[in-house]
Amino acid sequence: MLEDKTPKRTTLEELGEFGLIEHLTKNFTNKQISTIKGIGDDAAILDFQETKTVVSTDLLIEGVHFDLSYMPLKHLGYKAVMVNLSDIYAMNAKATQITVSLAVSNRFPLEALEEFYQGIALAAETYKVDLIGGDTTSSTKGMLISITALGTVLEENITYRNGAKPNDLLVISGDLGGAYMGLQVLEREKEVFKVDPNNQPDLSPYSYIIERQLKPEARKDIPTLLESLDVKPSAMIDISDGLSSEILHLCKESKVGCNLFEDKIPLDPTVISSCEEFNLDSTLVALSGGEDYELLFTIDQSAFPKIKGNPNLTVIGHMASENEGAHLITRGNTKIPLVAQGWNALGKT
Ligand code: ADP
Ligand code: MG
Repeated sequence: MLEDKTPKRTTLEELGEFGLIEHLTKNFTNKQISTIKGIGDDAAILDFQETKTVVSTDLLIEGVHFDLSYMPLKHLGYKAVMVNLSDIYAMNAKATQITVSLAVSNRFPLEALEEFYQGIALAAETYKVDLIGGDTTSSTKGMLISITALGTVLEENITYRNGAKPNDLLVISGDLGGAYMGLQVLEREKEVFKVDPNNQPDLSPYSYIIERQLKPEARKDIPTLLESLDVKPSAMIDISDGLSSEILHLCKESKVGCNLFEDKIPLDPTVISSCEEFNLDSTLVALSGGEDYELLFTIDQSAFPKIKGNPNLTVIGHMASENEGAHLITRGNTKIPLVAQGWNALGKT
């Protein structure tokens, strides 16, 4: 007998709102001691004892923040959690709980939401955060996701954007530009697919950058690493919009300037080769691409020996006095003012 290739499609009405919530959340178990009561009552109850509580929320809209034509729902669920956890880690905190709120149109069957929740579950499992609640409702068009992440931090470890001092070193985790170049590849393949749906492209040379776009990892390890190295950053922010705009946030909030060295910006070889292929400047991609979810922070110069040679960390510049302004020092040794260009500078609308 021929296998039935039609995917199963259960409408959301068949379950009803309570049945749906119960179905999607039944396999989640709480692991954090701070979770006193999770899903199942009118509100969750948490107990953070001696620590300070960190809260961050993001809202993601289909067609604005994600495109389901190349973003599998499982990856979307995972990424939506990462985007939020990244903000918690950027405060030098530990993430402990999330809430997930969803609005979906009747275009989405139960199986689509199951896939989405598989991504949420994988993220929650991997990053050891409890899913403690949310809300579920219908939308007239498309999918909306709002996630709130909670975390804890000892008061003395809280790292704001406003603590950088002139001469502090500017440090970044990981490498930059991958998520943006992954998006370029996916958008190109989407266009190719429209013309010839039978085309099976070999995307293996791009696996690193596609993964950076579709399955980013928040840098949970960095606050832990800094603690183990006995380094307390003076200021920190996560890279969601692109290096320039994040540096400018640090400068503005800390009332300092900055010198960023072009030749120090860490780039993966796949980013360099794909930039050549797409005829894009890799520095501009790192500065304006965004979505890398790396952590950018400043440290006192005296802490340099503690981070020196660490493969996770790269010193990319130093802070300066406010009246010096924020600049990129190019490979050719010219000084260009940093501007917050974001996606638009690269032709994305
Ligand atoms: P209310 O009507 O009071 O808003 P709900 O029936 O929406 O309550 O929610 C019941 C429980 O299920 C609550 O604990 C809520 O936080 C949780 N919940 C609702 N939607 C979701 C979701 N999408 N993901 C996780 N938990 C959810
Ligand atoms: Mg509700």
